[in-house]
Amino acid sequence: MFDVLGPAVIESSPWRARPNCSPLMTPSHRKRICLLGATGSIGESTLQVVADFPDRFEIVGLSAHTSAATLARLADELKPAAVCLSGSETPPGEAGGSASAWFSGEEGLAKLVEACEPDIVVVAIVGAAGLTPTLRALELGLPVALANKEVLVTAGALVMDLARRRGVQILPIDSEHNAIFQCLAGHADDPVRRVILTASGGPFRGRTRAELAGVTVAEALDHPTWQMGPKITIDSATLMNKGFEVIEGHHLFGLDVDRFEVVIHPESAVHSMVEFVDGSILAHLGVTNMYLPIAHVLAYPERLENSRFDALDFTRVASLTFEDYDREVFPCLGYAYEAARRGGTWPAALNAANEIAVERFLAGEIQFSGIPELIDAVLQAHDGVAHPGLDEIRRADAEAREKARENARSLGLSRK
Ligand code: NAD
Ligand code: MG
Repeated sequence: MFDVLGPAVIESSPWRARPNCSPLMTPSHRKRICLLGATGSIGESTLQVVADFPDRFEIVGLSAHTSAATLARLADELKPAAVCLSGSETPPGEAGGSASAWFSGEEGLAKLVEACEPDIVVVAIVGAAGLTPTLRALELGLPVALANKEVLVTAGALVMDLARRRGVQILPIDSEHNAIFQCLAGHADDPVRRVILTASGGPFRGRTRAELAGVTVAEALDHPTWQMGPKITIDSATLMNKGFEVIEGHHLFGLDVDRFEVVIHPESAVHSMVEFVDGSILAHLGVTNMYLPIAHVLAYPERLENSRFDALDFTRVASLTFEDYDREVFPCLGYAYEAARRGGTWPAALNAANEIAVERFLAGEIQFSGIPELIDAVLQAHDGVAHPGLDEIRRADAEAREKARENARSLGLSRK
């Protein structure tokens, strides 16, 4: 059995420390942004915020994985200092557009972070691939606006420790964590009783286990309230996304995993809540659009005037409802709690198994019910390490992926 990660409250959690600049300080220059994962859903919303506030922000670095043509178009338009096409082993060449430095491959992402000399790095890459450039940004003492939760699931203790040692902040873009961050502002030293993470429930809320077995990829991708990339949309349908968010919150806010409760809130208007020991509960509400948390972290500690979206109309929301989730139908959330309690390499193995399971489901190779089956099998075989270094985490990630691929083949074959 492995130790639970960390004490109940880590007093020196870096985001609790001083902000990067005083609220009274006006930026003397436009904030230089390195955007990793520019062609995805979060990447596009980030570009929208930058386009809306050209006197506040400029893009100095961009990455895409395989969309060379889009990267070239963005580079021509935004004139960043450097770009990276991470899914290619050869330099982007023409695809680099008018950028002065071009990089390629996974290691190119870390080079991009350094070469473009940003003030902040937005990590909007999907999956554990976000880990290396996030670590590089922190090593360089650069604040990170983090959308990618897999980074903290895979190596949260190492990432937070590095941020603490370098004295830099990790600003959460994930809407729940951005909400918690805002609820805790001014209360960083107040004892928290629990954090209530809200979940829309995804497209399969209220279904039975039998009804879920044969759902199609298109049904699983049809999220009721959020428009997101395919991987996180499937994670939302299995509720693994919420499990990852428990682990993400545990690391970001230095609170024990069992202080996080998940409640289904289909309207997605309350983005999360914090209850203090005196019973006071602070909630964050807003429209369901990632533009808001992105604008919040890019401008932080200031706030930008928002004229793009109408305010949340309470007369149209009419009611805010909350309900429990079905632990039998959505076992992935329980797996995440268990992996987080065990700590060490367990969450990295959980994430790696999930990445493969989701990839295989999206490719039509396994059924929806095969996702938790596959993850369960990988975790049962996982030989965890209690206090891993980066190499042990990478090994656990690689082994879990390999095991998941093997299991996916036999799961796929057994269904044929
Ligand atoms: P997406 O699939 O729309 O975009 C992913 C981006 O990452 C693309 O630019 C792609 O080119 C790049 N990419 C893909 N694989 C890569 C790899 N192996 N190496 C480097 N780059 C790679 O995903 P998204 O919905 O924008 O989500 C991005 C991250 O933000 C995820 O970790 C997700 O969990 C998190 N997040 C997303 C939302 C949302 O509303 N979309 C909300 C909260 C958190
Ligand atoms: Mg979220």
